[in-house]
This record gives sequence, C-alpha cells and structure tokens, in this order.
Amino acid sequence: MNPIVTNLAYLLASVLFIFGLKGLTHPRTAVRGNRLGAFGMLIAIVVTLVDRNVMTYQWIIAGLALGTVIGAVMAVKIEMTAMPELVAVFNGFGGVASALVAGAELFRYAHGGTVEVPVTQFAIAAGASGLIGMVTFTGSMIAFIKLRGFAFSGNVKYPGDQVVKALFALACLALIVMIVGDPSGQYELYWYVMLVSAVLGVLVVIPIGGADMPVVITLLNSYSGLAAAATGFVLDNTVLIIAGSLVGASGIILTLIMCKAMNRSLNNVLFGTWGGDAMASVPGADEIYEGKIKATSAEEVAMMLDGLSSVIIVPGYGLAVAQAQHAVRDLANMLKANGTDVKYAIHPVAGRMPGHMNVLLAEADVPYDELVEMDLINPAFAQCDLAIVLGANDVVNPSAREDPTSPIAGMPILDVDYARTVVVIKRSLSPGFAGIPNPLFAKDNTLMFFGDAKQNMLDLIAAIKDA
Ligand code: NDP
Repeated sequence: MNPIVTNLAYLLASVLFIFGLKGLTHPRTAVRGNRLGAFGMLIAIVVTLVDRNVMTYQWIIAGLALGTVIGAVMAVKIEMTAMPELVAVFNGFGGVASALVAGAELFRYAHGGTVEVPVTQFAIAAGASGLIGMVTFTGSMIAFIKLRGFAFSGNVKYPGDQVVKALFALACLALIVMIVGDPSGQYELYWYVMLVSAVLGVLVVIPIGGADMPVVITLLNSYSGLAAAATGFVLDNTVLIIAGSLVGASGIILTLIMCKAMNRSLNNVLFGTWGGDAMASVPGADEIYEGKIKATSAEEVAMMLDGLSSVIIVPGYGLAVAQAQHAVRDLANMLKANGTDVKYAIHPVAGRMPGHMNVLLAEADVPYDELVEMDLINPAFAQCDLAIVLGANDVVNPSAREDPTSPIAGMPILDVDYARTVVVIKRSLSPGFAGIPNPLFAKDNTLMFFGDAKQNMLDLIAAIKDA
C-alpha cells in the first residue's frame, strides 16, 4: 500500500481515538465516543493487515475468533462490581502482547531480518517494551489475585523490599543496555529482560494493600499504553505509538484523579500503606455509636417522604452490590410524580471504579441531568428536606471534614449531614472501604434504615403505595 495512504489512514484513526476519548468525558456523548474509538481501531487494524505483507491470515483469523469469543463471554458474564478485576486482566494481556511482539521483532532482526528504524532506537524500544510490558503483566495478575481475594490480601511487606525492587530494576536496565550495545549478538538476553521484569512486576504490586488495587490498576493501564507505544517504535507503526501514548496519558490522569479524590498521593499508594499510623487513632465504633443510633422503617420513611419539595439520593458501593439502581429509579419517579425535586449526588470515588455510579444509574435510564457532581451538589444539601444515603459510607463520612487525625482527613466528601434529615440505608453499622466508623450514623438528624439496598427500596415503594 502507498505509504501516504497508510499514514493518512493512521492519522484518521488517531483523530477518531482523540474524538472518542473526548466523547467519553460525558455520559451523553459516551456511547458515540466509544463507537468513534472502535471505528478508529477498525481502520487501524484493516490498514495494518493490508499494509504489512502478511504471509498468511490463518493464524490471525484464528486469534481474532478465539479472542472475540473469550472477550465477549467475559464481558457479558462479569459482575459490575468485579469490573476492576476484568480491567486488570485486560491490561496484563495488553502488556505481555506488547512485550512478545517487540521480542519477536528483535529475534527476527537477529536472524537477518531488516528493521525500518535506526537499530539503536529499535533495540531501546524493544527493551522498554519488554520491561514495561512484563511489569504490567505480572503486576496486573497480582492485582487480579488480590482483588478476587485468592491470595496476598493485605500489604505483603518484608524488610528491605525497596532495595530488592531497586536491584531488580537495575538488573533489568543492565540487560537492556547489553542488548542495545549488540542487538544481533545479545538478543537472547531478551528472555532475561522478560523474566526479571516479570519478577519486578510481582515485587512492585505485592506489598500494596488490596484496598489500593483500583488505583494500581489504573496505573498499570497507563503502563500497558506505554508498552504498546514502545512496541510502536519497534515496528515503526505510527498509530500504535499514538494509541499507546493516549492510553498512557489517560491512565496516568485517571490515576491522579483517583488519588486526589481519596486524598492520597501516588507515592503513598505505591510505597505507603492505607491509613498508616492514622488508623491507630481512630475512635472505636462503640464509642461513636453507643446509644445514639435511631433505626427507622419503610412505613416511617414513606410518611416522611410525603409532600417533600427536595430529596437528594446519595448512591454508593452498596447500591452496586445490591443492584438497586432500577428500584431507586422507580422510587425517584414516584417522588417526582408527587412534585418532589429529586437529584442524585455523585462522588468521584463512590463505588469501586471511576464512574461506577454513573454507569449503574445510566443502566437504569436515570436522566443524566439528575446526576450532579460533588462540587455542584454540596451547597444544595443545606436546603434539602431529606437525603437518602443508599449503600454509601466513606464518601459521606464527616470525619474527613471534621477530624484532622482521621485516616481519611481531607478527602472531599458529600455534605449529606447538612440536610434537614438523613436516611442511611445499609445492612449494619459495619464500615466501608476505609475500615473506619462513620459519625454520620450517630448524628441527631440521621435515621438508619437497616437492610439490603434493593429490598429496602422495594419495601419503601410498597409502603408509599399503601399509604
Ligand atoms: P464504602 O465502601 O465506603 O461503603 C459501602 C457500604 O455499602 C458499606 O458500608 C456496606 O455496609 C454497604 N453495603 C454493602 N452491601 C450492601 C447492600 N447489599 N445493601 C446495602 N448496603 C450495602 O462505599 P462508598 O461508595 O461510600 O465509598 C467508596 C470507597 O471506595 C471510598 O473509600 C473510596 O476511596 C474507595 N475506592 C473507590 C474507588 C473508585 O474508583 N470508585 C477505587 C478505590 C477505592 P453494610 O455492610 O453495613 O451493608
């Protein structure tokens, strides 16, 4: 194929990726954004297959068919709450694929093949791909194992772990330098680059607590993009370089957004422990809750909801666990039919993945304009008649605002406690992700409606109908 045509097609694909990413920044345009990105990828794949003198298509078609079946089954079967695990696996496979392609090119070159880029660039890029790709692969697999709870739960620390990691990283860099010095003679060292990087990936992720895994996964997502970009330099494939860089940049931006919303630094996630010493100063649950918890019932809440002018619903992880999104939409529709203004308050890290609440509520066809981001909804709580906290905990914990010694001190929260009345729906007084008690439950204006989020919503709807 004429190189000008190929490059123009790659340029078009890259522009589609960028517009696709732009579309993904808002729920209203997200579906279109996804389609634009997928269309860009189709163009990139077709042009690459036509352009690169493919000898035989048998293996490619077999791989495509197998990958499509496995990917489709996984995507359909996976629970929404297990999405971070699925993303971890996908990142890991992306990383190892980049490392293997770069390695294959290096071996082909060493056996007399030609390369289309300067040999030094080629060898450096291959080494980078092997290192980053394998760290991504094994790191992602450990993240998957931790999130599934199969093994290595908690922070697996040992004395001198930073030194050990540094030694492995240096060993890997030394191997890459040797390959770059003589790519055709030393190409077999690439196996060792892959092996040492694989161990490094395990060592980097294993000490990080399971609770921080979603942040680690977004970071590994960024790494998988960098590995792909490095392989793009090996193959001299512009669209792979651009797509990999876009994944790398968006992954790191998302990582930083999540760290900020959890009031943690990336350094603290990678090298510290969750809560650290602050955990020791957390008051006991008994001390906070003793004699101050007021339980309520569906009938009582139904009476309270009658004739209110504004209600704010605050969804959290429990909504995802209970799959209560359809039931809460039905309740909201009933309230709106009675003239109540209903809004959903969306915290950036509610649930277990970025945008978790948006996705669930969109699935239940909740209108986008009823979903209000934290900064915009917070001033509205003081004027709100009733806030319903549905399976949320940490994101509404006033200790973040009021207790400078709290492990979540400084984390931005939804100010639900400023509402006239707060109804909290959860099954017990047990803590959320951060593992700390929540003084909101003991406040004078809070009522606890204990039970499963979905069942309680259904009971509430039935009680409103009966009233
Ligand atoms: P939390 O994890 O703080 O709390 C969720 C609450 O849901 C629990 O206290 C639990 O209480 C309740 N719950 C569980 N199952 C049910 C059910 N079936 N019905 C009713 N309630 C239920 O969730 P939040 O959304 O408030 O906060 C998210 C936390 O996750 C934050 O700490 C955030 O930093 C962290 N995080 C978020 C990420 C993201 O990207 N969104 C990524 C990484 C971490 P009970 O057992 O009593 O029912």
